[in-house]
This record gives sequence, C-alpha cells and structure tokens, in this order.
Amino acid sequence: MSNVTVCARFRPLNSKEKQNDNSSVCIRSRDTETFIFKDEKDEESVFSFDRVFYEQSEQADVYQFLALPMVRDVVDGYNGTIITYGQTGAGKTYSMEGPGILECSEQKKGLLPRVVEGLFDSLNSSDEKKTYSIKLSMVEIYMEKVRDLFDLSKVNIQIKESKSRGIFLPGVTEINVLDPVEALQNLSKGIANRTVGETQMNMASSRSHCIYILTIQQEFSRDKRTRFGKLILVDLAGSEKVEKTGAEGRVLDEAKTINKSLSALGNVINSLTCGLQGKTSHIPYRDSKLPRILQDALGGNARTALLCCCSPSAFNASETLSTLRFGARAK
Ligand code: ADP
Ligand code: MG
Repeated sequence: MSNVTVCARFRPLNSKEKQNDNSSVCIRSRDTETFIFKDEKDEESVFSFDRVFYEQSEQADVYQFLALPMVRDVVDGYNGTIITYGQTGAGKTYSMEGPGILECSEQKKGLLPRVVEGLFDSLNSSDEKKTYSIKLSMVEIYMEKVRDLFDLSKVNIQIKESKSRGIFLPGVTEINVLDPVEALQNLSKGIANRTVGETQMNMASSRSHCIYILTIQQEFSRDKRTRFGKLILVDLAGSEKVEKTGAEGRVLDEAKTINKSLSALGNVINSLTCGLQGKTSHIPYRDSKLPRILQDALGGNARTALLCCCSPSAFNASETLSTLRFGARAK
C-alpha cells in the first residue's frame, strides 16, 4: 500500500459564484472516489482519488479518512504530513482549522484541532504505562525565509539535519503542552501572527506556507524505551496563477516563489509515489525550503496525506484543473 493518500475536496459555491455564473459547476460526482470534471471548453475528463469529499462533506469525514489513521501511526512512532493545497479561497484553511481553532462548533472544527485532540486521546488510551509529552512549533515560509510564528523576532530559521534528530530547526520555539486546550491556545496565537498578502482573488489571501509541527515523545515505564513521532500539518500558500490575480512587483515575486516551492513539493511527492523510496539522493528535497522541512515526515516510512481543495464553480475551472492535476500527479 502506498504511503501517500491523495483526496480532493470541493467546498460549496459561495454567494459571489452563485451570482456571477448562474451557479454552474465544473464537476459531477460519480462515486466516493471518482468524478467528472468539465473544463472551460466543456470537455469532460474523469478524475479519481483515494477519496473525494463533495460539497456536503463534513469536517469529521475528512478527519476520519485522511488524518485519524495518521494520528494512530504517529503515536506508534511514525512521522506524517498532512497538506492542504489549492487556489486562494478554495477551502485550505477552512479544512485545516475550521472557522477558528478556539470556540468552534464540534461540527465545523477543522483538521488541526481534531488532530490535537486525537493525539491526546490516543496517547491517553493506550494500555502500556508511559509518560509522554507533545511539543509544538509553528513556522511560516515566506519568500524562502522561515519565520517562527511563536516568536516573530526569529525571522530566518535554518533547516538542519542530524542523525539523532532528523530534520530540525535550530533555535525555533518549542512549546510543551499538556492537554488539547493548552495546545490550541498556543496554536491560535501563532495563527494570529500569519503574514497575509493581498490579491484580487481574496483580500486577505495568505502568500505564505504555514507549518504546524507536533512532536510526540513517549517513554515506556516497563523498559524506559523512548519513542518519537512527528506530525506536520501544512496550510500551503495559494496555488493560483499570477495572470488571474493581476499581480505586479512584490506580488509577482511572491507568486513566482510560491510556484517554485509548490512544484518542488510536487516533484518530491511524485518521486515518492514512483517507487523511489530509499534512494533519497534522487529525491529533490533540497530544491526549496518547503520539501526540505518536510523531508523526514514525507519520505521513507512516513505517511503523507494531500487534500486538494477546489471551488466547484465553472468560473474557477482552470485553477481547479491545475489543482486536480497536482493531486493526480502525486498519486
Ligand atoms: P483558502 O484557505 O484556501 O484561501 P478558505 O479556507 O479561507 O480558503 O475558504 C474560503 C471561504 O470559503 C471561507 O469563507 C470559508 O469559510 C469558506 N469555506 C471553505 N470551505 C468550506 C466548506 N467546506 N464549507 C463551508 N464553507 C467553506
Ligand atoms: Mg487560507
């Protein structure tokens, strides 16, 4: 079985899409794995993914399929990465966080709060006697610079690798948390610090990749054995093409940098699914900071889940097609 799971999610039409284009949509569902996509020229093609979440899908469905198995694996000592991909406004942050990670209804809660609760549940429910700790870090990659979202004075964090620690970020803030409430309170402070840029697509679209790093350490009472697992969640910058947003100057530079890091990520995931595991020298992690940070949570034994977030509107068909192609290539 592949260690890479790729899903597509279509959010409901928003009010602007309903007005602008008579609510016409670019997809027709077939089943839980397959749908028909209609491009701008009305040509149809079939896409299939490990799972397709249609407009009516619940946050809990996405969590159960894509994240819960990974939460269990991470408690068993594996690393994992959950990534949301798509154009600005497609539902990446909604899927990752929900409408907000604090004080959100149970129904609308996103992946991050569910993962945090799931990790604690899983750690607390095991039969074996042990102590454990969860450490949080939160960084943002903007224009190939890694910033610490828990300490904005740390603006250029390096990415290092060692035999004992794997990939690590020297000097990054790590917060020890004892329960889900404490974890989410800290994460929400990091979220408040995110850099946002402006594009015509969305007044507050994020032009940075936001990376949540959860490190779980367990020590078993019986033999003092320790076990580490790392779960990384990534809310990527918008994947939209520059032309559509009418970008110039700084915004154009941002878009080019984002594009480069997203294609580096795509290349890495693609080389993993093409059976290159183990031959790490062939996998282009070093082409960009994004895949490099994720390196030991993507390759080898690690699990990867990619959620391709899409608008269902015919108006966005060309961006949706490029998102679907990114996902299809990752399979
Ligand atoms: P992105 O992070 O990809 O730019 P957002 O997650 O911010 O996009 O979503 C854009 C808007 O669409 C938000 O107002 C969000 O609440 C809404 N939205 C996205 N996905 C869904 C969904 N599955 N159900 C309901 N509303 C959604
Ligand atoms: Mg967002």
